[in-house]
Amino acid sequence: MTGEKTSVTQAPHANIAVVLAQADAAKGTKGIGCFLVDMAAEGVSSQSFDDPGFKPLGRGSVTMDDVFVPDDHVISTPGAGFADIMAEFDLSRTLIGLLCVGSAQRALDMATAYAKDRRTFGKPLAAHQGVSFAIAEHTTYLTAVRTLGYHTLGLRAAGLPHTKEAAMLKWWAPKVAFNAIQESVVLHGQVGWSNEMPLQAMLRDVSGYQIGDGTPQIQKMIIARGVIGRDAVSG
Ligand SMILES: Cc1cc2nc3c(=O)[nH]c(=O)nc-3n(C[C@H](O)[C@H](O)[C@H](O)COP(=O)(O)OP(=O)(O)OC[C@H]3O[C@@H](n4cnc5c(N)ncnc54)[C@H](O)[C@@H]3O)c2cc1C
Repeated sequence: MTGEKTSVTQAPHANIAVVLAQADAAKGTKGIGCFLVDMAAEGVSSQSFDDPGFKPLGRGSVTMDDVFVPDDHVISTPGAGFADIMAEFDLSRTLIGLLCVGSAQRALDMATAYAKDRRTFGKPLAAHQGVSFAIAEHTTYLTAVRTLGYHTLGLRAAGLPHTKEAAMLKWWAPKVAFNAIQESVVLHGQVGWSNEMPLQAMLRDVSGYQIGDGTPQIQKMIIARGVIGRDAVSG
């Protein structure tokens, strides 16, 4: 196996890589297989990126130079790899959506506790509608996204199609979460913007999830194909 994949989460720490590789270039996506590759195998190297977020996970590139892959490391034979990984995207996109909502909920919970504790102009922050309504609005958005997440998991558990719902979560949840965390920064005032609190790190992590596993534009193409039809969208 020979080639390079850039932008791989956990590349600097991984012991094993799941690799989609072209076994027969003439067959396009139908020539793709899925393989387990030992990161310590001869010919494998990885590089680490200096990223603003994803600090514990890390991200980097993986290079393979004539790496031998034994038969028992084949996950999907050439031809089945592309379809198999596409089905997994439906799950990973759903989970990313819920993960982002979880992070934003924590930020909002912190802002809510702070709003009850900190006093300005003789009242707790929470007594100012400018503060309490912001918490109410972001709670509404997060609840809506979480509900879509549970609905999507329900479709998956029932064996029903959920590609477009997963794509909806993937473009929408990180955006809603980013906005909620940013508002939580503002509701904490100067201390929220500081690295003394985890809010900046949460903001940077969620911004990475706007791109990883597929950008908003690609997700909207998937939804449009599902709703309008692939042929009509292609023109
Ligand atoms: C934090 C993070 C973690 C990641 N982890 C992994 C990983 O573990 N494994 C992995 O394989 N990859 C990973 N990635 C890579 C990620 O999947 C890609 O960066 C992403 O799919 C976008 O590809 P690109 O960077 O080549 O952007 P490009 O394809 O160059 O796109 C650039 C911009 O143009 C837009 N664009 C491109 N084509 C179209 C089009 N046809 N119509 C409209 N707009 C378009 C895109 O939406 C984007 O906004 C990660 C990325 C990040 C940021």
